[in-house]
Amino acid sequence: MWQVIGQTRAVSLLQRSLETGSFAHAYLFIGPAHVGKMTLAINLAQALNCETAERPCGECASCQKIALAKHADVQIVGLGYGGDSAEANSRVEISIDQIRQLQHSASLPPFEGKYKVFIIDGAELLSIEAANCLLKTLEEPVGKVVFILLTTNGRLLPETVISRCQRVELLPLAVTEVETALNRSWGIKPQKAELLARLSHGCLGWAVSAALDERLLQQRAERLDELLEMVRTDCDERFAYAAQLATQFSQKRGLVQERLDLWLAWWRDLLLVKAGSGGEITNVDRLATLIDMVKGYSLAQIRTFINSVLVAGEELRQNANPRLVLEVLMLNIPVVEGYSEEHAIARAEVKNG
Ligand SMILES: [Zn+2]
Repeated sequence: MWQVIGQTRAVSLLQRSLETGSFAHAYLFIGPAHVGKMTLAINLAQALNCETAERPCGECASCQKIALAKHADVQIVGLGYGGDSAEANSRVEISIDQIRQLQHSASLPPFEGKYKVFIIDGAELLSIEAANCLLKTLEEPVGKVVFILLTTNGRLLPETVISRCQRVELLPLAVTEVETALNRSWGIKPQKAELLARLSHGCLGWAVSAALDERLLQQRAERLDELLEMVRTDCDERFAYAAQLATQFSQKRGLVQERLDLWLAWWRDLLLVKAGSGGEITNVDRLATLIDMVKGYSLAQIRTFINSVLVAGEELRQNANPRLVLEVLMLNIPVVEGYSEEHAIARAEVKNG
């Protein structure tokens, strides 16, 4: 019983390889954040160690231990794993020491199960030394050991590592699939299920987290308000905001990328509303604001700004100067005639006392 929802292609590929005994000794699961990579990896670890014929059954002692992260032969390596020490918390990449420990453990036979399974979460964060060290293990596979590398971006991994793994792509689910799953499996009411499904962009894991933790929706609302404020504000404040984001970027890249994604979804919604396809939008709870805002822009302005957000994201990924990239992005926010003028006058009056 595979627990991952959707992902039928990936599941049937793994199921087939289990049935024929032809599974790889290393897999690379590629897909966006929260799409189900870890769930599928845990399921595969269960299937490899399951004690019944219906692998993974989800109910035998082995399957249950793995689900509770208490199985001695299934280990997860990544930034958020490996203790609460200050050193562990301050890591920005998966270190060579973590991979050496893993290799030592891989050299010992399974302790209680049939296979040792090592899941490397965020494999794109392997340091160069760590990736090279891991490569040696992948090149000389030992029996009864399976590696599962999870990544949101395969392009950030060395080609030598990728070529040693069987690639398994996980694609976002259809919005209706997420909606149905939230409703049926988690008992979320239809209206909320629809909102979460759309905001999740097909990544069920995010939708479930947001259903269980109100703070995620709250946070999204605050961040969206912040971004919308930048449309209405003057250059000084936009630059201050760019500087603030650039500082965050140096500490936690993901936070800035999340904002760009939020921004992108918002402007895509504006494009859809402008083009008369409002039924497809992501931010369904803000339709009135979208309708109001879209009046101030032309289709070309919206398209150009969407492109600016995409360019900024790509430049940040390529390690361009974050402050510069974000300042340019802030300057590229298209001018709303009327609204911003009125706002600028009000603001000038406040400033002049
Ligand atoms: Zn089982």
